[in-house]
Amino acid sequence: MFAVDIDGTIAEGRPAALLDYFRETCRLALVDIPEDITWWDIFDLPEVVAYRKLHRKRYQRIRENVMGSLLVLRACTPVPGAVAQLRRVSQREEVKYVTIRGDDLPSQKTTRAWLAQLGFPNSDSVVFCRSFFQKIAQVMREPGEHVIIDDRYAQLVEALHEVEEQAGDDPRYQRMIEGARRRLTIVAFGATALAEQDLFPGVRTVALPSWDQFDECCGALLREPIERGA
Ligand SMILES: [Mg+2]
Repeated sequence: MFAVDIDGTIAEGRPAALLDYFRETCRLALVDIPEDITWWDIFDLPEVVAYRKLHRKRYQRIRENVMGSLLVLRACTPVPGAVAQLRRVSQREEVKYVTIRGDDLPSQKTTRAWLAQLGFPNSDSVVFCRSFFQKIAQVMREPGEHVIIDDRYAQLVEALHEVEEQAGDDPRYQRMIEGARRRLTIVAFGATALAEQDLFPGVRTVALPSWDQFDECCGALLREPIERGA
């Protein structure tokens, strides 16, 4: 199975929608914003920073809920090449989406509708998780070999380290680590090279700088085409 993360891997948040989200939730004017502002720069705008300092708890809730905002979700754009590559992958492997987006019903519906509308394969097959640990656990629960494609691969590796720390006391965690070593490949989306801290000993990890490079970086992970009608 190919378990594909959504945000930052196949979907990009649109800065204009994030600005509107802050205008609405924080009641900020946010005028004279440079047109080419990036998603991450918005969090450092003086008005946003001032709001954060004044309303710490409220800001934290607002910040955590960005990807639970329908306004933001609907405005996402696909990462270039993602639709075409995943359609090809889906001819050989089961494709699933595994995300830590908000798991309330409207967010779930919006996410599935967005995937379908843009032509992503298997758009109904989305697993909503609460943590990176849960992502791995959900994927490894099923038998067979699995590939997780994720832009936050470092967090996946961190989660594996946490599981390993607890494995001494719990055979379920031991099985999870053993399973990951035998059956899991992490595809580090957006990475051109992998540093030591991006790797978990024994778990195959592959860097995938962009979807256009899928064949050269990940082609070997695909099964041979299934022979039909033989
Ligand atoms: Mg992501």
